[in-house]
Parts: sequence; C-alpha cells; structure tokens
Amino acid sequence: MTNKKSLVFATSNQNKLLEINKLLTSDLNIEIKTLSDINVTEDIPETGKTIEENAIQKAAYIYNKYGYNCFAEDTGLLVDALNGEPGIYSARYAGEDRNDNKNIEKILSNLNSATNRNAHFKTVIALILEGETFIFEGKIEGEITTAPQGTSGFGYDPIFRPNGYNRTFAEIGLEEKNKISHRAKALFKLTGFLESVK
Ligand code: IMP
Repeated sequence: MTNKKSLVFATSNQNKLLEINKLLTSDLNIEIKTLSDINVTEDIPETGKTIEENAIQKAAYIYNKYGYNCFAEDTGLLVDALNGEPGIYSARYAGEDRNDNKNIEKILSNLNSATNRNAHFKTVIALILEGETFIFEGKIEGEITTAPQGTSGFGYDPIFRPNGYNRTFAEIGLEEKNKISHRAKALFKLTGFLESVK
C-alpha cells in the first residue's frame, strides 16, 4: 500500500477543484484535500493588494491556523483598456454578491465600443510546504469578445477568447482549456515542483 502525502487546496470554488483534479497526475502520490475535508467552513481572508499577496495570504491562513501543507491560488482578469481592471477585484467587480453574469455585463459595458480589447488572465499559486513558501505563475493572453459566447466553464470564460483561437474559453470546453489556461500553466509548474521534491 502506498502512503500518500496530503496537500490541502485552500479553495471553496468547486470549478477550480474540478480543473485541478483533472490536471494532477496520479503518479504524484499526493492526495488533494479540500477545505471541507479538513472541516474548514469559514471564509478565508483575501485582503492583499496583488494577486500574489492574495494567494500567499490564503495559503498562509490555512498553514498557520490548521498546520496543513497547502496551496492556494488567486486569479484575476486584467483588461488593458481598463488599466488592468478588474484584477484583484475580478470576483466582486459588479458587487459583493460575486455574480458572474453581472461581472461580464460590467466589463462589456465598460469596454463599450473600445477597439483595444486585449486582456489576460493571471493565476498565482502559493504553496506552503513545511513552512516554506513557493510561488508559481501562469498567464494567458487573449481578447474580450463583444458578447458572451458558449456555456462551459465559469466566471469570465464566455467573453475571453485566447489568442490563436476563434472561440471563447466557454466554447472550447474544459479539456482544451485545461491544456492552455493560466491556471493550467501555473499548475504544471506546481506539479513539476512537487515531482522534483517527492
Ligand atoms: P478568484 O481567484 O476566486 O478570486 O476568482 C476571481 C474571479 O475571476 C472570479 O470572478 C472568477 O469567476 C474569475 N475567474 C477565475 N478563474 C477563471 C477562469 O479560469 N475563467 C474565467 N473566469 C475566471
């Protein structure tokens, strides 16, 4: 019997959990535990000024309070013509109720008829292993469409068309998205690192 090491993924976002579970290779010998697996139900503070600070803050919260090796990720959509907005405010761009449709509407309305629709997603993963912090980053460049397209994925997927594609993340589906996305790139770096220290 193999003795799997466990690593807590500090998220309550089921979509992110699904994406990450699909990406983790089974030969890594690591069992990913969720916050509900370790009975953490409170909201984890997220008050940093950057995506990186937020990722570190979330992982450090779980490590310091509960003592688990863990990782957390934070992601933002940064739109050039909106000076990098919504960035760290991506989840609550249109209000505290974290509504994906309203967030999308706000971006489309703020961009209005802008011709520069360039944007990128950025993910930072902070891993805390025996008290030491490691950072992994992933980015994908693309464009904001003029209307939502597609139904798969979550968040801003229906209005983000990655460069080199003529479909949005919500049209290309999870399998393809998982090969090229910001989160996938950061996660490949994380798994490569975990592989090297196993
Ligand atoms: P957070 O990392 O959970 O704070 O997410 C920030 C915001 O970005 C939320 O509104 C998410 O829905 C959105 N978001 C995060 N990752 C993705 C993605 O892969 N596609 C589309 N939207 C995303």
